[in-house]
Amino acid sequence: MAVPFRRTSKKVKRQRRTHKKLHMPGMVECPNCGEYTKPHHVCKNCGHYNGKQVVEK
Ligand SMILES: [Zn+2]
Repeated sequence: MAVPFRRTSKKVKRQRRTHKKLHMPGMVECPNCGEYTKPHHVCKNCGHYNGKQVVEK
C-alpha cells in the first residue's frame, strides 16, 4: 500500500533499498575466462562455448 514518503524514516527507506542492486541484464560470466558474455553465445574473449574451444583466435 502507498505510504506518504515522510512517514517512512530515512533509516527504514535505506534498509529496504539494500536489497536493490544494479546488475548486468542478460549477461553471464564465461566459465573459462571470467569475461561477461551473452548467454547461449560463444565467448568473444576466448572463443569457448559449453566448456569447449569452438572458435580459434
Ligand atoms: Zn571466455
